[in-house]
Amino acid sequence: MSFFEYRHGELFAEQVSLSSIAEQYGTPCFVYSRRAFETKWQALDEAFGDHPHTICYAVKANSNIAVLNLLARLGSGFDIVSEGELRRVLKAGGDPSKVVFSGVAKSKSELAFALSNKVRSINIESVAELERVQEVAQTLGVTASIAFRVNPDVDPETHPYISTGMDKAKFGVTMEAAFDAYVRAAQMPNIEVHGIACHIGSQITKTSPFSDALEIVLNMVKRLAAEGIEIKQLDLGGGLGIDYQGETPPSANEYVQSMINGIKAHGVDLPIAIEPGRYISGNSGVMLTKVEFTKHNASKNFAIVDAGMNDLLRPALYQAFHKIVPINEKTTADTATYDVVGPVCESACVLGYDRDLAVEAGDLLAVMSAGAYSFVMANNYNSRRRPAEVMVDGDSTHLIRQRENFEQLVAGETLLPE
Ligand SMILES: *Cc1c(COP(=O)(O)O)cnc(C)c1O
Repeated sequence: MSFFEYRHGELFAEQVSLSSIAEQYGTPCFVYSRRAFETKWQALDEAFGDHPHTICYAVKANSNIAVLNLLARLGSGFDIVSEGELRRVLKAGGDPSKVVFSGVAKSKSELAFALSNKVRSINIESVAELERVQEVAQTLGVTASIAFRVNPDVDPETHPYISTGMDKAKFGVTMEAAFDAYVRAAQMPNIEVHGIACHIGSQITKTSPFSDALEIVLNMVKRLAAEGIEIKQLDLGGGLGIDYQGETPPSANEYVQSMINGIKAHGVDLPIAIEPGRYISGNSGVMLTKVEFTKHNASKNFAIVDAGMNDLLRPALYQAFHKIVPINEKTTADTATYDVVGPVCESACVLGYDRDLAVEAGDLLAVMSAGAYSFVMANNYNSRRRPAEVMVDGDSTHLIRQRENFEQLVAGETLLPE
């Protein structure tokens, strides 16, 4: 079910027409649907039934505090990768006892901040990090609840830039090293072993890579149990894919059932945490952009739009595909095949290649599936101001982040003295 649908030839977000949003807030602009976020989160929650679970939304996918707050109101936990993300969760009313802290390079001050706020688990990615966590916890006089993020070395069959669980990745502790790391951790005075975590990649469109990883993780849980090291939570990461261009990823139910079946088959009845980001936010937002000009060369047509790679980096960064559709289907323009390109002075500043569109200058387009890894990667290259973000809730709209202004763009910069 999509919350972005045409009505009489006009694209709407819930009950609000996107052209009215473009008129009120300008373009480029990100538009989110509250019901979309909530429906996705609830689908996962319900799929678990009465199996003990925590959905730790991966903040990095879309970290606007309004988004975090809506999920916190549903009872969500959060997966964070920096102090800044934890501060956002706290500001949004999130519960730190449902927070897991991932990331390969946590600094001492970030760890101290997380430990003082009593997060559920520090997901440790190396033995060197374990030593750092012990040291910081000792200084604070607290016990750190930890998991190791293990690297099960399975191929998630997704884009190499978003694969994280293979042995050549920088992420996690290899399975060979993990057992000894747990034994070390169990002996440390300020460490309490809480769980085991893995996250194998993103935009995964079948259940088999998840089941393969689960199998490997469960074997480790049993090996640890035999050693007297008790795991209290299985954190199976994020990675569930979405439909960008006709992919058919598993449903929330299929995904969750395959995990529950996997653990039952092993006779391991542990609470499960998952860290979905893209699944919850990806199709919960779109980016609106306006056609400034069209340009026709001998071999190419260009639709030159007012949003660029600084606003939506994914196509330039990982050749990601986003559908691009007109906001108003009624047009007098002829259909042609366009490269939809932005204003940034880089050849990579492209939102989509070879799109059949009937457009002319002044038309509005929606770049679909722009709720995850989109605004969060927006930047100021070419001194462009980051776009506004708007949340639609039924028939009302809320500006949840203003378009940046020039003063914000140069904040913190100073001239040398005369
Ligand atoms: C990015 C990330 C996630 C979320 O991944 P999605 O594909 O958006 O679900 C979860 N856990 C960790 C550790 C991550 O780095």
